[in-house]
Amino acid sequence: MNTAELFDYFLKSKKVTTDTRNISKDCIFFALKGANFNGNTFAQEAINQGATLAIVDEEEYENPSNNIFLVKNTLETLQDLAREYRNYLKIPFIGLTGSNGKTTTKELISAVLKEKFKTHYTFGNLNNHIGVPLTILSIPEDTEIAVIEMGANHQKEIELLASIAQPDYGYITNFGKAHLEGFGGIEGVIKGKSELYDYLRSNNKTAIVNYNDPLQVEKTNDIKRITFSDESSTNYQIKLIESKQEFLAVSYENELIESHLTGHYNFSNISCAITLGAYFGIDSVTIKKGIEDYFPSNSRSQIIEKENHKIIMDAYNANPSSMEAALNNFVKFEGTKTVIIGDMFELGNESKIEHQRILDLAESLNFDQIFILGLNFKETITHNSKVKKFDNRTTFEEYLKDNLILTQNILVKGSHGMRLDLLIIE
Ligand code: ATP
Ligand code: MG
Repeated sequence: MNTAELFDYFLKSKKVTTDTRNISKDCIFFALKGANFNGNTFAQEAINQGATLAIVDEEEYENPSNNIFLVKNTLETLQDLAREYRNYLKIPFIGLTGSNGKTTTKELISAVLKEKFKTHYTFGNLNNHIGVPLTILSIPEDTEIAVIEMGANHQKEIELLASIAQPDYGYITNFGKAHLEGFGGIEGVIKGKSELYDYLRSNNKTAIVNYNDPLQVEKTNDIKRITFSDESSTNYQIKLIESKQEFLAVSYENELIESHLTGHYNFSNISCAITLGAYFGIDSVTIKKGIEDYFPSNSRSQIIEKENHKIIMDAYNANPSSMEAALNNFVKFEGTKTVIIGDMFELGNESKIEHQRILDLAESLNFDQIFILGLNFKETITHNSKVKKFDNRTTFEEYLKDNLILTQNILVKGSHGMRLDLLIIE
C-alpha cells in the first residue's frame, strides 16, 4: 500500500493508533517495534477489534484479504502519513525545541492562542519520532493553529521532526546541559537543536528569537525572525516585574500579567507566548487572560502549600541547567529553606563533574539543609554538615519517618527516574 492510498483511508476516519489497547472502530493500526514488543504480532488482533487497516513490516504477518498490509518500514510510513496530512492542513504550525522548558512554553503559547483561535497542541510530552506524527495525525480539520513540541536526545532527530511538522515558525527555548551523553557535549546540543534553525533557513520560514540570549541571536542572524526581549529594540518588549512574590509577573504594553509560574527561567517562556499571541493579533488584555488562566501541572515548578511549609515541586525532570536555574531561583524565597535534589541522568562522562558542580553551588547558596539523593550525588565530595546523602528516595523516606523537615520552604528536584514527585513530605 502506498502513502497516497493510505492517506485516502486515513481521511475517512482520521483515527490512528499504535496500541491495541486503544483500538477504536475504523482506526488504522500501525505495528511498531520496540525493545520489548513487536506490534506486528498484534495486527490480526487489531483487525478483530475493529481497526479498518493494519500496517505491518514483517512479511509473515501480511494478509491483504484481512486488510493487513505490508510496508517496508511501519514507523517511516507513519511519519510519511503525518507529513502528508500536515501538508493537507493549510494552517500555521509552530515548532518548539530546546533543552528545557519546551512543554511549559508549548502550554503557555497554546493558552494564549486558544483565546482566539482553535489551537491544537502536543498532548503532554509526546514529542519524539512517534509522538510528533501521532500528534499531527490527531489534529482536527477545523484547527486554526498547531503547536508542536519536538524533543531530541541525539543528532538528526530535530531534522527529522522538522521535516515532518514543517513548522512555519520555530522557537528554541535554550541550549542547555541536557542529554549530553547522546548529543556529545554542549557543542553537540547546540548543533542538534539548531537543526530547527537549519530547517527554517532552508525553507524561508520564521524564527521566534529571545534577544536576551546571545547564542540564539547569533544562530538566527541569517533567518527571517520575530524578536522579543526586555528592550525596546526588539519587535516585542516584555518586562519582568521585580517582586517579592514567588510567582512571576511581567508587563506587556499597559498590562500587568501575573502568572502562576515560579522561576526566573519562566520569564522567557512567558515572553515567547506573549510574542506569538501579539504576532497573531491577540490584544494585550486577552493575552493577559491566557497567561493568568494557565496553572502548571505534573510537578513542573508547582507550588504546594502545606500547613507547615511551602513545597516547590519541580521533580518532573532535571539536568544541570534546569537544576542551576531552580537553585538560583529558590534562594530568593523568603524564610528558611531545605533543598532535596536527586540525581541527574544521561550526562555521560560529564556526570561526575556536573553533580559536584551542582552540590558546590547548593552549598554556596547557604540553604539551611541540603539532601542529596542517588548514586551519582553519593560520589560527590562535601565537608558541609548541612549536606546529607541518601542512596535513593526510599532510604530518604525512611529517614523522614524519624526526622521532620522544619524549614518554611522546600525545593524538590531531580531526574524523572528518581521519581521524587512521589516523595511524601508532611
Ligand atoms: P522534556 O525534555 O522532558 O520534554 P521540557 O523541555 O519539555 O522537558 P518542561 O517540562 O517544560 O521542559 O520543564 C522542565 C523543567 O525545566 C522545569 O520544571 C524547570 O525546572 C526547567 N525549565 C523550564 N523552562 C526553562 C528555561 N527556559 N530555561 C531553563 N530551565 C527551564
Ligand atoms: Mg517536554
